[in-house]
Amino acid sequence: MYMESQTTHLRELLQEIAHLNAAIALLNWDQEVFMSPGSAQARANTLASLSARHHELVIATVLQNEVTRLEGLPDGALDARETALVREIAHDLRLAVKLPTEFVARITEATSRGQMVWQAARAANDFNQFAPVLEEIIALNREKAEYLGFTNSPYDALLDTFETGLTSSEVTKVFTPLKERLIPLLKQIAARTTAKRSDLEGNFSKESQLQLSRDVATAMGYSFDHGRLDLSTHPFSTSFHPTDARITTRVDEQDFWVCLGASMHETGHALYEQGLPAADFGSPLGEAASTGIHESQSRSWENIIGRSKPFWEHWYPELQRRYPEPFAHINLDQFLPALNEVRPSFIRVEADEVSYNLHIILRAELERDLIEGTLNVADLPKAWNAKFKEFFGLDVPSDALGVLQDVHWSCGYFGYFPTYALGNLYSAQLWAAVRRDIPTIDTSIAKADYAPFLGWMREHIHRYGRQYRPAELLTRATGESLNPEYFTAYLQERYGMSASTE
Ligand SMILES: [Zn+2]
Repeated sequence: MYMESQTTHLRELLQEIAHLNAAIALLNWDQEVFMSPGSAQARANTLASLSARHHELVIATVLQNEVTRLEGLPDGALDARETALVREIAHDLRLAVKLPTEFVARITEATSRGQMVWQAARAANDFNQFAPVLEEIIALNREKAEYLGFTNSPYDALLDTFETGLTSSEVTKVFTPLKERLIPLLKQIAARTTAKRSDLEGNFSKESQLQLSRDVATAMGYSFDHGRLDLSTHPFSTSFHPTDARITTRVDEQDFWVCLGASMHETGHALYEQGLPAADFGSPLGEAASTGIHESQSRSWENIIGRSKPFWEHWYPELQRRYPEPFAHINLDQFLPALNEVRPSFIRVEADEVSYNLHIILRAELERDLIEGTLNVADLPKAWNAKFKEFFGLDVPSDALGVLQDVHWSCGYFGYFPTYALGNLYSAQLWAAVRRDIPTIDTSIAKADYAPFLGWMREHIHRYGRQYRPAELLTRATGESLNPEYFTAYLQERYGMSASTE
């Protein structure tokens, strides 16, 4: 695939690490999909051991020396892709060497255990069960921020691990005005909403829903020869190689969109992974640009396409055929507003797209305060519920419907939530560019021909891997740096509010 070049040895070293990484990811996938709860501690120990070994390979002298040698080459010795490869791996290594191996083992063990404790605590609706391990995980994340280093806030160091260069003050700069627009917009749209998602309830068997998900994923361009679909508590996607990018979903037998929406979301992630250049497996050039760019792919499919009229012009007759009850009695013009009911609700993953970013901003503000030490774990449920009242006007009835609903903090993912909102903002900006470049895109989508859309993403996003940093990739793809106006304009257009961009 690649001619012998200056980066051949580096690529070989990175592939060895990538294979170990794939094995770790497979064990994590198994933990979520198949493993019995009684195996949790043994699995935590296995993952801690393998992660420590992975970390040793990453910080090994041989790799450091090779990167140093490549960084020292004269200008012009490397082409643009190779230059980006060296820049990105040097960035990763500089961060990795700051984390002691024993620390990596400790945080891996705590978060693996944390996920199991969280599952039990959520099922029991008992925050106190989760609080001690959450305190431990927050302390470990503060310790991590100290190792990585930061200027203003320890939260900066954690954000940077998901979205290179992102800082707490930039998050505030984007989120605060967005919050101030979304709170009244949500009230306004919800007040005019009469259709109800519950009008679409029926009895939809698990197997038939999984089949619908498989059919839609296949139409989207997902290859089942290079992945699979399974069930898990919290839907996710994971990839071991572009030829093995897996997705999970969950089923609600009354509400078909819980499964299909999650499946389209995760398929969007997996299409990105299947679209990464396999020849660059193991190197940053074969990896997704960032967590936020990843989320832009999933949200594009789930929301911008999956909730649109053109998408359902093809799939609604199919839904009516598969489920005559209740859909034979509901026409497309009744179905769409019901599917897109806008109403403040408790669960982020079931939220409409107007509310969704407010769920994220709430979490981002709380996790920043937890990491900066201005909020204690003991006060977290109260703080959650107070913000929920402020943003959505609702009283949270239980911790299971509130602070315990998400897996992320139990995994140690502090700094991850903001990338969800960024993903939405990116997706709206990318969509504006797609429509400009492909004026017939709605007609294609109405025929279930997603090749033009996927092809645009492959060409402007997927094939680059991490050649460009997220901000530059977005600018190259859309001709403009991040502009949240595209997102609010998109919401106003879809929900029939007067456009502010005119
Ligand atoms: Zn996602």
